[in-house]
Amino acid sequence: MTEDNRLRHILIVGGGTAGWMTAAALARFLTDGFTKVTVIESEAIGTVGVGESTIPQIRIFNRLLGLDEDDFVRKTQATFKLAIEFVDWRRIGERYYHPFGPYGVDMGGVSFHAFYLRALAEGHGGRLDEYSLQALGAEEAKFSRPVPNAGNSPLADIAYAFHFDAGLYAKYLREYSEARGVKRVEGRIVDVKQHPETGFVQSIQTEKGETIEADFYIDCSGFRGLLIEQTLGAGYEDWSEWLMNDRAVAVPCTLGGSLRPVTRATARPAGWQWRIPLQHRLGNGHAYSSAHMSDDEATAILLDNLDGEPLADPLRLKFTAGRRRKSWDKNVVAIGLSAGFMEPLESQSIHLIQVGISRLMTLLPTRAMGEAEIGLYNRWMTWEYEKIRDFLILHYHATERDDTPYWDRCRTMQVSDYLAEKIAIFKSTGRVFREHDELFNDTSWYAVMMGQGITPGRYDPIVDEMPDEMFRSRMEEIRQVTRNSVHWMPGHFEFIEKTCKAAEFVWPGRA
Ligand SMILES: Cc1cc2nc3c(=O)[nH]c(=O)nc-3n(C[C@H](O)[C@H](O)[C@H](O)COP(=O)(O)OP(=O)(O)OC[C@H]3O[C@@H](n4cnc5c(N)ncnc54)[C@H](O)[C@@H]3O)c2cc1C
Repeated sequence: MTEDNRLRHILIVGGGTAGWMTAAALARFLTDGFTKVTVIESEAIGTVGVGESTIPQIRIFNRLLGLDEDDFVRKTQATFKLAIEFVDWRRIGERYYHPFGPYGVDMGGVSFHAFYLRALAEGHGGRLDEYSLQALGAEEAKFSRPVPNAGNSPLADIAYAFHFDAGLYAKYLREYSEARGVKRVEGRIVDVKQHPETGFVQSIQTEKGETIEADFYIDCSGFRGLLIEQTLGAGYEDWSEWLMNDRAVAVPCTLGGSLRPVTRATARPAGWQWRIPLQHRLGNGHAYSSAHMSDDEATAILLDNLDGEPLADPLRLKFTAGRRRKSWDKNVVAIGLSAGFMEPLESQSIHLIQVGISRLMTLLPTRAMGEAEIGLYNRWMTWEYEKIRDFLILHYHATERDDTPYWDRCRTMQVSDYLAEKIAIFKSTGRVFREHDELFNDTSWYAVMMGQGITPGRYDPIVDEMPDEMFRSRMEEIRQVTRNSVHWMPGHFEFIEKTCKAAEFVWPGRA
């Protein structure tokens, strides 16, 4: 009989969003009772949680765990999100939405994007947002979940995500994980022992002198990368040449201003400011480049542009955009900030945690740690990070702003061949393609390229096959159906109040 080589013990180092999401997934799917899972975290060190804004994929993760969505919304003080609103990115005074979900409907197998470009060329296109239920919902503070039996109306399939308190989400998942057998240890790791020949991590030691041994370690220790970097030295690929922001200052404030289901990203002289509405407060922050702006100046800009009263002292964070060269090395996988970080411009960080977890579940090793699987995991994660990176760079590069050295540098910088090609194809033909399974689909690329003012030289000639009159009436019909559907949707806060308001709910009176 062959030896049972299954993992006996997995140790997750860190209990932030990454640590508890990973623990919850393992608790949900490793149910044979053989593999023990432990999370070690240090309250003295704490976690990063400053937001957070997510993308619709988080709903898949929550569903896999079997979470009740209303319960999750209540317990994390969440609100809904239909889009990101970009303010002052193309030019000061201009704004656009990057909505979840498609624009209009594809016709005769041809993407709606091409039809809209034809309508623009003929002078009757109107605003792109008028063809998106999510963009209009975001603009008019409306929200609904998909409506069953809505036929082919856009109400049948509404893509949405959440804004939530990441600290509360980690707490929620901790309860979930502990109820399913995950053990939690409170303590600060002060030493890590490696096998003298293989270099595999053998055990960790806490400041109280406790030793914990495991076969497999998941490094969720945040920016410090306690195992993956400080112990194994996996290396870091620095992307600050393109993503220059290396600092953020964050502050929560009381509710004020709009209650719209949207994350707002406002461009500033050397970075951008986010505004994330929760049920009990607003999350705000300013990501900026320290080479172009001082910390005090960045903090002043943030505090001068809040919609409510600050609820805490501003929190300052430093980071370098990039990714770990190997996110899996020996018997350590890094998930979360320890694997890499790109500022939260498209709210992709928690999604990258999710991708890391799902790829790891697919390739969960035995104690033998196959080199081929490790190589495959690293290749998959590199692809994910690089494609998201290029989508973020698009926001900076495709700008007409020339009012500061920062924006001058963004506009004129050399970008990757991948991004340059995508822009060139769109500019010359109006076509945009999603490559393989990159996170952001053709609608996302289209929304941002159009919003940032990239003007296609022509549109796909295939759409000219539709006779003129028919084309005009189809476009008008799509616009009408979209508008009527949005009218039908309840107000965002009204929806929350009726279905999933938290115990500590402030919105109605905005105390
Ligand atoms: C400015 C900013 C804004 C962001 N906004 C968004 C957003 O809007 N949307 C989004 O998806 N993501 C956002 N993110 C990213 C998101 O916050 C992180 O991806 C997420 O919180 C995961 O963090 P983490 O769990 O990897 O690390 P952390 O939250 O830093 O957790 C690290 C854990 O490791 C433990 N630890 C560390 N060292 C030790 C030790 N020696 N001993 C014991 N325990 C230890 C800590 O106690 C903690 O529990 C943002 C990040 C930043 C910096």
